[in-house]
Amino acid sequence: MFDYHVHTDFSADSNMPMAEACAAAVKKGIREIAFTEHLDVIYPDSELQWDFDYDDYIREIATLQAEYRGRLVLVRGVEVGLHPSGYEASCKFTEQGRFDFVLGSVHVVDDGDLHDGAFFQGKTCKEALTDYFIALNEQVKNYRHFNVVGHLDLIKRYVRYLNCQSRDINWKDYYDIIEDTLKELIHTGRGIEVNMSGYRYGLDCSLPDFDVICLYRQLGGEIITVGSDAHNTANIGLKLDEAMDLLRRAGFKYVTTFREQKPIFRSIER
Ligand SMILES: [Zn+2]
Ligand SMILES: [Zn+2]
Repeated sequence: MFDYHVHTDFSADSNMPMAEACAAAVKKGIREIAFTEHLDVIYPDSELQWDFDYDDYIREIATLQAEYRGRLVLVRGVEVGLHPSGYEASCKFTEQGRFDFVLGSVHVVDDGDLHDGAFFQGKTCKEALTDYFIALNEQVKNYRHFNVVGHLDLIKRYVRYLNCQSRDINWKDYYDIIEDTLKELIHTGRGIEVNMSGYRYGLDCSLPDFDVICLYRQLGGEIITVGSDAHNTANIGLKLDEAMDLLRRAGFKYVTTFREQKPIFRSIER
């Protein structure tokens, strides 16, 4: 199993030491773990520091990789929070570092944070969803320095701010723009992840959900990673068996891992 989305205490919102993450991963039968620490250059109204010390991070990975040789592969990752005002600094950080895997994720649209609900203020459901998917589309087109887009429909986790439930929304209304985003990713050699954090947020699906995974496959998408988005040991590897089933059911024969930002395709056929 490959968990390609994990946050340790190098991320502002996790207290998990990397050593504990490695021990938990081995216990759960994970062969490869990507530490995708947060780098959000633009994060309005946050008291937290959304970046990390690259040198300390690399040192810690090297130390633990030596300790876990033959049992667990540690992947140098980063989750870049996409924002037009942060492109230059984000690019500089990831290009200067030696990262195996770069996730690109939208956490903030304009000046509105999705997580704390600021983004949703004064918006109807349709406006919020349209704004979100257009912002994601623009960022995928305007910023190419990442390998895989993180939790493509993250907004699903936060529709409670719109006083509605995900199951009451007709997500197909947004498929035109989602399809355009997926095509852009495919044509530029990038991919998507299947993020299983939805299950922790009371959703009964992955991010993106099965239908979008199928759409990506139909469009010719090949690059696809799976991740728990764990911020603690309990969530490492969570639901990843189900994620692999989703991939198989959607017609994928491979799951993707990365080395030096180059995709490696690993068979998932039984
Ligand atoms: Zn994220
Ligand atoms: Zn994350």
